[in-house]
Amino acid sequence: MNFNATLKDIQTYEAGKPIELVVREFGIKPEEIVKLASNENPYGCSPKVQEAVGNIVANMALYPDDSMTKLLDGLSQKFAVQTENLIIGSGSDQVIEFIMHAKANKASKILINSVTFAMYEIYAKHVGAEVIRTVSQEHDLEEFYALYKKENPEIIFLCTPNNPTGDAIDTLALFDFLHKIDKDTLVVIDGAYMEYAGFKDVAKKIAPAKLVEQFENVIYLGTFSKAYGLGGMRVGYGVANATIIQELYKLRPPFNITTLSLEAASVALEDEAFVEKCIASCFDEMKRYEEFANEKKLDIINSYTNFVTLVLNVSQNSQEISNALLKKGMIVRDLKGYGMNAIRVTVGTKEQNSRFFELMNELL
Ligand SMILES: *Cc1c(COP(=O)(O)O)cnc(C)c1O
Repeated sequence: MNFNATLKDIQTYEAGKPIELVVREFGIKPEEIVKLASNENPYGCSPKVQEAVGNIVANMALYPDDSMTKLLDGLSQKFAVQTENLIIGSGSDQVIEFIMHAKANKASKILINSVTFAMYEIYAKHVGAEVIRTVSQEHDLEEFYALYKKENPEIIFLCTPNNPTGDAIDTLALFDFLHKIDKDTLVVIDGAYMEYAGFKDVAKKIAPAKLVEQFENVIYLGTFSKAYGLGGMRVGYGVANATIIQELYKLRPPFNITTLSLEAASVALEDEAFVEKCIASCFDEMKRYEEFANEKKLDIINSYTNFVTLVLNVSQNSQEISNALLKKGMIVRDLKGYGMNAIRVTVGTKEQNSRFFELMNELL
């Protein structure tokens, strides 16, 4: 059977290995498995969310509130933007998909960082667009600008802090860059880890309201999957000029967010104290990774997120090490596929991290 030619060179995205698969493949008990592969919040979500979601289960027959008023109002307050500046997706992934379909086609170019979130490329290929990458591993805005001038991309993706490396762009430099981009090019700022960056260093914090105020061609993305501890609920959002948002709405399937997810995200927004506490614990625990890297003479990239990237020595193979960890029930992310001899590890709870160090000490 013939399929759409644009699917030919797409590699199916491999999500962090689910615990269920490790149970089946290696016969390890679920409670003995530690998953530090997808940058979820190891402390979960606010207890208030769990309570609110429990109350909803009685009313599952009706379709969700497709106006999403409660969550839109919550986000509008949080970011000091109008609800017309917001769109909610089934994860910010879905918003990326809308963006791609709204703006790009097989004649378009998409500019992304050399090492970055894999879904930009996959969604670009859905519409047959050509992907242009920088050479630098960290976002180098001068290189981005040179490539923008040369290639005239339809969309530029900036992931800050970046996944899977954890580094972040300086806000001032970012705004200078955005001022130089013409209004027909859409710039996507993916802030999936912005809560962590803002906590660690205000110079890396990007306020979506400022972007919307100053730039008609920029969209900011956020998610409830990371700091808010709601990865299982699939809720993300885009913040932009109302004109962009209206176009994206044309691509949104009705009822794309379930009743449970809408409630969970809305209530999560009301408990910022919980999130702040989790973030503080994350950076406390991250110090232990820095010490570990020091001790083992490994490079660790300065991280503005809830994960660390450990760059291994030439005598160590990231694929072998992550497989060996997997067999012991420790799931981390191998970055071989990104061209790096490195592993990405979500900073877990104290116990989870101790287990990681223990296993690594055995392996190295
Ligand atoms: C996790 C992540 C997302 C999206 O996550 P969703 O669960 O789809 O909201 C987007 N961008 C980056 C860089 C991420 O790491």
